[in-house]
Amino acid sequence: MTTLGDREKLYTSAAHDPFDGRHHGSIHIPVYQTSLFSFEKYDEFLQANQDLQHRHVYSRGNNPTVRYLEDKLAELEGAEMSKCFASGMAAISAAILSVVRAGDHVVCVDQAYGPTKQFLRDYVSRFGVTTTFLDGRSTEEIAAALRPNTKLLYLESPTTMLFQLQDLEACARLARSRGIVTVIDGTWATPVFQQPIRLGIDLVVHSITKYISGQSDSLGGVVSGSKELVGRIADMEYMLLGGVMTPFTAAQVERGLRTLPLRLERHEGSGLAVAEHLSRQPYVLRINHPGLPSHPQHELAKRQMTGSSGLFSFESGESVETMRAWADRLRYFRIGVSWGGFESLVTAGPAPNGYAVPGARSLVRLHVGLESADDLVRDLDRAWAEAAAEAEAGR
Ligand SMILES: *Cc1c(COP(=O)(O)O)cnc(C)c1O
Repeated sequence: MTTLGDREKLYTSAAHDPFDGRHHGSIHIPVYQTSLFSFEKYDEFLQANQDLQHRHVYSRGNNPTVRYLEDKLAELEGAEMSKCFASGMAAISAAILSVVRAGDHVVCVDQAYGPTKQFLRDYVSRFGVTTTFLDGRSTEEIAAALRPNTKLLYLESPTTMLFQLQDLEACARLARSRGIVTVIDGTWATPVFQQPIRLGIDLVVHSITKYISGQSDSLGGVVSGSKELVGRIADMEYMLLGGVMTPFTAAQVERGLRTLPLRLERHEGSGLAVAEHLSRQPYVLRINHPGLPSHPQHELAKRQMTGSSGLFSFESGESVETMRAWADRLRYFRIGVSWGGFESLVTAGPAPNGYAVPGARSLVRLHVGLESADDLVRDLDRAWAEAAAEAEAGR
């Protein structure tokens, strides 16, 4: 049975903290801007050193401001424990390295975040770890790719260029029966719309940089899961690779986290409205948005997610040059990487080999921000009319 998280409850989790007398009832957690913690007596110091993850000794292990954010994210995720990192990639690389040893094999979806794939293909491979990349939409295909030495199944659902899904419950069941650890990058859905731990996935990673922060001013990442698996990461990759989140960043992210459910509902509504409008435009061949009934995996999306965020793509029969000229004319959609902030963004590139619909020449990705959806739709239409008129005049 699928257990979807209760969206309403997340509002309370995000907004509420119990009264804490240690901080004089302060509404925010103070920023413990300190690298180390000192002791009055040597015995206490020695004792604290026995438990670097729970006592306060050094901020590369445990800082109260960062820990506050970690506990909050674990609660939202339905996980026993979370650790926050300096970036999404720091979290992802730590999660992968915590699982694999020389001689192991990894199965990874081929539409996963580019640097994640590069890390597996060009970096971890140096230590004798091999990776098979595959589509991931068919659990049978994943099952067929598993080998006796497969130790990690790395998922990203939905993916963030083509918005393909994996069946998380089926993948978790399959992996568990073979003693394989599952890791998912859940950045697109956030814990508000998808809670993979409840579906049996072992470790969930997010780029906090995107929706969880939501302010486009901080980099961060998080790994969540069981005390056993995340505790091991805390002792090893967190401490030894040292890509930790600073207390200041944790405090900034805390501000963003308060409004995460609220912001996502807005991104969802506007994202669907803009996507529906685009689906009727002649320059759009196919929309890739899991929240639309036209998405081939819409039923699965409804089964394992409670909503959709504001990032999606479309394939166009127009050339990359035409779509970039259109992007140049957009006023509210700014040209740039990343997403998840309050601002709308656009990128345009070639249609991906092997996945695009026949006739597609370009792939455009839009992030629908918190502006008026009506303004955004008018912006898209006006820019298209101008770009088309210019192309006509140039003919
Ligand atoms: C941005 C992103 C990452 C990497 O996060 P950083 O914070 O930039 O290191 C990982 N996965 C996905 C899906 C992303 O969009």
